[in-house]
Amino acid sequence: RGATPVPPDDRPRLTVLSGPSGVGKSTVVAHMRKEHPEVWLSVSATTRTPRPGEQHGVHYFFVTDEEMDKLIANGELLEWAEFAGNRYGTPRAAVLEHLDAGVPVLLEIDLQGARQVRESMADAQLVFLAPPSWEELVRRLTGRGTESPEVIERRLQAARTELAAEPEFDTTLVNTSVEEVARELLALMNVV
Ligand code: 5GP
Repeated sequence: RGATPVPPDDRPRLTVLSGPSGVGKSTVVAHMRKEHPEVWLSVSATTRTPRPGEQHGVHYFFVTDEEMDKLIANGELLEWAEFAGNRYGTPRAAVLEHLDAGVPVLLEIDLQGARQVRESMADAQLVFLAPPSWEELVRRLTGRGTESPEVIERRLQAARTELAAEPEFDTTLVNTSVEEVARELLALMNVV
């Protein structure tokens, strides 16, 4: 891009959207991106295999275990975490470049990652996406109906622990409607 760096005081704050799995983070982000392409969404590296329709460099950088080892060892990730048997991490350089150029940056990452960003970037704003109710989260986590009772129980246990992380965040948005949450998130990012 080659844009002129903005003074530190005018630099946008890094915004992190996190929350329990199944709460609808990626739906909110997809909606926001469609309406506001001026927000830059960080592209994570992951060791998981692509799902149908996912493109390398767009949805994720799909890397091997060895490549992930190297990214971590070289300090190239702002944060990384293991989630459901795969590793995920945020490439640091692109995030900093966009912020330096005055572009609002959004990370959509899990709770472990959000905690690491809190440690490494003091001025980041951490946003927790909460389900409208526990019952609604249970419905979403069990909704597909393809998992065994054991798997579902494990997920619900994880969700209970994840919900308890809410007080660590600066702001909570309740996912009642995708449009509403996307609007609130944009306002927090000073985009609208
Ligand atoms: P999925 O495999 O469904 O795309 O993502 C699984 C989980 O990993 C989601 O909760 C997502 O937010 C999280 N995730 C995606 N990228 C990153 C990342 O770079 N760092 C961390 N810590 N979590 C991530």
